[in-house]
Amino acid sequence: MLSTMQDGQLSIATLLRHGSAVHAGSEVVTWTGTEGRITTFAQVGTQSAQLANALRGLGVTGDQRVATFMWNNAEHLTAYLAVPAMGAVLHTLNIRLFPEQLTYIANHAEDHVVIVDGTLVPLLAQHLPTFKTVKHVIVANGDAAALQAPEGVQVHAYADLLAAQSTEFDWPEIDERAAAAMCYTSGTTGNPKGVVYSHRSIWLHSMQICMADGMGLSSADRSLVIVPQFHAMSWGLPYAAFMSGASLIMPDRFLQPEPLVKLIEATRPTQSAAVPTIWQGVLAHLDAHPADLSSLREVVVGGSACPPSMMHTFAEKYGVHIVHAWGMTETSPLGTLCRPPAGLSEKQTWAYRYTQGRLPAGVSARLVGDGGEELPWDGESVGELEVRGPWITGSYYRLDEDGEGTEKFDGGWLRTGDVGTLTPDGFLTLTDRSKDIIKSGGEWISSVELENAVMAHPAVAEAAVIGIPDPKWDERPLVTVVLREGVEAQPEELRGFLTDKVAKWQLPENWAFIAEVPKTSVGKFDKKVLRAQHAEGKLDVRHLD
Ligand code: AMP
Repeated sequence: MLSTMQDGQLSIATLLRHGSAVHAGSEVVTWTGTEGRITTFAQVGTQSAQLANALRGLGVTGDQRVATFMWNNAEHLTAYLAVPAMGAVLHTLNIRLFPEQLTYIANHAEDHVVIVDGTLVPLLAQHLPTFKTVKHVIVANGDAAALQAPEGVQVHAYADLLAAQSTEFDWPEIDERAAAAMCYTSGTTGNPKGVVYSHRSIWLHSMQICMADGMGLSSADRSLVIVPQFHAMSWGLPYAAFMSGASLIMPDRFLQPEPLVKLIEATRPTQSAAVPTIWQGVLAHLDAHPADLSSLREVVVGGSACPPSMMHTFAEKYGVHIVHAWGMTETSPLGTLCRPPAGLSEKQTWAYRYTQGRLPAGVSARLVGDGGEELPWDGESVGELEVRGPWITGSYYRLDEDGEGTEKFDGGWLRTGDVGTLTPDGFLTLTDRSKDIIKSGGEWISSVELENAVMAHPAVAEAAVIGIPDPKWDERPLVTVVLREGVEAQPEELRGFLTDKVAKWQLPENWAFIAEVPKTSVGKFDKKVLRAQHAEGKLDVRHLD
């Protein structure tokens, strides 16, 4: 029997129409360094129509790719909406990728147009001659004349281009399963791999973001979107805002702790999201410059494990509630988010809060052991997490050409490469990336657990742990530590601090003090670089007996 329900495509155009009409007065506040530049959702709606008309005028048809090389701002949001709504595909370029990776992804995606922020023009100019398919560059928030384009590429000024366009656009009816946007993984091995989101996957994911046990985004919120729009679609916040009417606060290029804190005080966001390293920086800044963060009802932290010590400091010193979440570019990205069950003691609640969180209805999961066997959800069995669902990718874009990456899929499941446990009630605890786990004498040591324990020491600003070869145990942990400014500590003291926190055989004997933990293009600890530094003898390792 068929249902009696009407059909309607879950498209970005419907989100755009809804947000710009029903939530016309909601705001996008783009930080300029001293104040917020305000664009209403209604204005984003008209500017989206103008951008779509302009792109059609430049010959963008069908599912051609329109890339962005931008900070988080109102113009980037306009591209987020206009490009998919007109039927084209938005490709968010990660401005921090290595040059050869950027060239690879722009050519692999066959980008036709690039929209770039004025301040990023010098950076783009270095890469542009290697982008084979790009015909047009549109410069927003800056001087188009500053870009010397290679032959065959036309440069346009965003504001002039849009001003000449109609504020109406006849958004086409689009199959909800068609491509809307794409993002390449910031993977550390091999070429980046393309994940292509559909209109439908973005819609369903946005609903999950808005759910109370998701990020709970509502029209009463002002969401400070620190996670870059090129990192897994800003974790879905821009689209969820157009769905819910939450105002957006966009930090543009002001991502250092000092301006971020200033921005929070000036614009009073209620919610925010970013990787732990951003918040570690903010905490270190707050130590010397206390500020009022009381507008924040909660902050979502994911992308890497959130150190429990950071959650406690935010809660106890600043009254900010941190919510831990896990996801990947491949999972749109929301995979789990932590809302502890009700009715527990404070201690039990905290124990839940350290986990990566609970699976939502849209994400099915299984744990797979070394021999390929499925493991129980008993909170103890450790295996690789595999997931599937309507906002999880089933393949990589044009993988057939190089074949690399097929091993990530297993009969309809995405093999995440993340290792951990699941409780019977669906809470995920990640112990590590499979490639970061330290195998010591046949037993596994979680690098994340050690890092979290070391980072709880008051002298430690950051700590990253890698496995290094050991003649007796195969591998042993090496703890690299960044001390807080002006603070001293010795390895003996730090190891002593760990004695009641980790098993005796896990206590690390190798320590190195470093100035900074190397970071990936999206701000995570880059252990590949640390491993290389160690292999090249660049780390000054102290070995304790
Ligand atoms: P990306 O696609 O760049 O966002 O990277 C996804 C990867 O980040 C995941 O596969 C995890 O290894 C890691 N990750 C994301 N969130 C968390 C988290 N809350 N705890 C630990 N690792 C995380």
